[in-house]
Amino acid sequence: MVTTSAMYESLVKIVGKDYISNQTEERYFYARDGGLMPAHEPDYIVLPKTPEEIQEIVKLANREKVPIVPTGAGLALTGLVIPKKGGIVLDMKRMDKILEVNDKARYVVVEGGTTQGTLKSHLQKHYPHLRHSIPDSPPVATIVANAVIHGQGRLAHQHGFNSDMVSGLEVVLPTGELCRIGSCSLSSYWFSKGPPLPDLSGLFLGWFGATGIITKLGLKLYPCKKMRDVMLFLTDRVELVPDIMLKLSHTEMVEDVNVSAQPLPLRYKGTFWIMAYITGDSENELEFKRKMVWDALWEHFENRDVGLMSVSPDMKEPLMLMPSKDLTRFADVSKGGGFQYAGPITPIEKFPAFIKKLEEVATKHNVFYASTTRLIGAGHCMMFSFSFSFNRANPDEMARAKEALDECSKFALEEGSMLWKADIDEQKLLMESMDPNTLNLMKNLKQLLDPNGIMNPGNWEVK
Ligand SMILES: Cc1cc2nc3c(=O)[nH]c(=O)nc-3n(C[C@H](O)[C@H](O)[C@H](O)COP(=O)(O)OP(=O)(O)OC[C@H]3O[C@@H](n4cnc5c(N)ncnc54)[C@H](O)[C@@H]3O)c2cc1C
Repeated sequence: MVTTSAMYESLVKIVGKDYISNQTEERYFYARDGGLMPAHEPDYIVLPKTPEEIQEIVKLANREKVPIVPTGAGLALTGLVIPKKGGIVLDMKRMDKILEVNDKARYVVVEGGTTQGTLKSHLQKHYPHLRHSIPDSPPVATIVANAVIHGQGRLAHQHGFNSDMVSGLEVVLPTGELCRIGSCSLSSYWFSKGPPLPDLSGLFLGWFGATGIITKLGLKLYPCKKMRDVMLFLTDRVELVPDIMLKLSHTEMVEDVNVSAQPLPLRYKGTFWIMAYITGDSENELEFKRKMVWDALWEHFENRDVGLMSVSPDMKEPLMLMPSKDLTRFADVSKGGGFQYAGPITPIEKFPAFIKKLEEVATKHNVFYASTTRLIGAGHCMMFSFSFSFNRANPDEMARAKEALDECSKFALEEGSMLWKADIDEQKLLMESMDPNTLNLMKNLKQLLDPNGIMNPGNWEVK
C-alpha cells in the first residue's frame, strides 16, 4: 500500500511519481541480492535521473536522518546493496549515458549507472580500436560500482584493478555538495583521477557508497587489438602454479591469466587449467606471442609437469567470451541455484595453500566448490576465489555455504590477504585486524564526510 508520508511526497517532488516506489513487491526485491547475506527491506526505492536530483535527495535524507544505499545491478553478491537499516535505495539505472569518449587521450566519461554491456557495445560499434577492462560479471553490472568495489577485469594483468583505471569522478557528497575529483576539477579533461595532485579518489573508491554517490566516472581505455587467442595449459602439480603464473607474466605478452580448479566433472579433479590470453593486430604478432609464451614454459614441458592442451573451436568459443559465463553456469541460476565467493586479494605464492583449504572446507561443510584465480598486475597479487554454489530452496545448504565462506575468509586474512568486496562480517574481521591508527584515520574520514551516518550504514562502520 502506498503511504502518503511527508518523506514520500518530498521524494515525489524531486524525481516524479513514476520513479519512486514503496510497494511491497519492490521492497521485497530490493531487500536482497543473489548471495547469502540476510535480507532487509528499504522504505523507498528511488530512481534519480540527474546529479541535481541526487543532491536534493541527499539533502532531504540528511535533514530527516534517513539512510541512502546506492545500487547498481546488485551483483557484488556480498550484501553491499542490502539496506541494512532501511531508508532509501537509490537505483542508478536511469543514469546510464556515455557522456564522452576522448579517443586521443583514451578515456570515456560515463554516468553513475552505465552498465558494462552498454560501454562494451558502444566501443565495439563506434571505437573498435579501443576497449576497457571487462569483468566477468553479467553485462548489467555497472561500471561505477565495479570501480567502487575495486573490481578486476580482462586487463588486470597489464593494468591492475579496474579502480586503478579510473580517470576522474563526480560525486555527490553525503551532505549534498557536488564535487569533482582529478583533472576534471580543473578543466573539461578527465585524464587523471589525481596525480600529480593529491589523489582524493581514495575517499570514495573501496568505500561501498558509504562516503558519497558517484554520478560520473572517467575510465581509461586501452588499445583493442584486432585478434585475440587463448592458450590452455594443464598441470596436476599445484605447487608449480605460482611459478607458471610468474613465467607467463614475465613474457609481458599476455593480457590476462586465469587459473581454474573444480572437482566436477571428475576429469577436472586435481588438475589446474591455466588460461593465458594473447592479442595481436596480425597473425604474425599472435604467433610471436604464442612462441614467447611457449618458450617461457619450455622447462615445464620438458619435465612433463605441464601440458599444452589444444583448444577445439567448440571449446574456444566459451573461453573467449567477455564476460565469461562459467560462474553463472556453476551456480545453475536457471534452476534456482546461487553462488557466492570470497575473493581474497593475495600474493600468488599462496595458491597451493588456498587450494588445500578450499578442498578441506568444501568437504567439511559438504558444499560444491569451484575456483577461478586472476593474476593482477605483473605478479603483484592475485584474486583467488573460494566459490561455493547452493540451492536457494535449501536453507541448510545456504547456511553451510556461508559457514564455508566465513572459514575461508578468516583463513585468507590470517594468511596475509585482503578481503575483496567484504560483506559486513568480513569488514568486521578486517577492522579487528587493522592497525589501530589506520582504523582511526578511516573513522575520522567517515565522520568528516558523512557526519549523520546516512550513507550505506552498516558498511565500514568503525566503532
Ligand atoms: C557471475 C559473476 C561473475 C563475476 N565476475 C567478476 C569479475 O570478473 N570481476 C569483478 O570485478 N567482479 C566480478 N563479479 C562481482 C560483481 O558482479 C562485479 O564486481 C560488478 O561489477 C558489481 O557491479 P554492480 O553494479 O552489480 O554493483 P552493486 O552490487 O550494485 O554495488 C556494489 C557497491 O557499489 C556501491 N555503488 C553502486 N553504485 C554506486 C554509485 N553510483 N556511487 C557510489 N557507490 C555505488 C553499492 O552501494 C555497493 O556498495 C562477478 C559477479 C558475478 C555474479
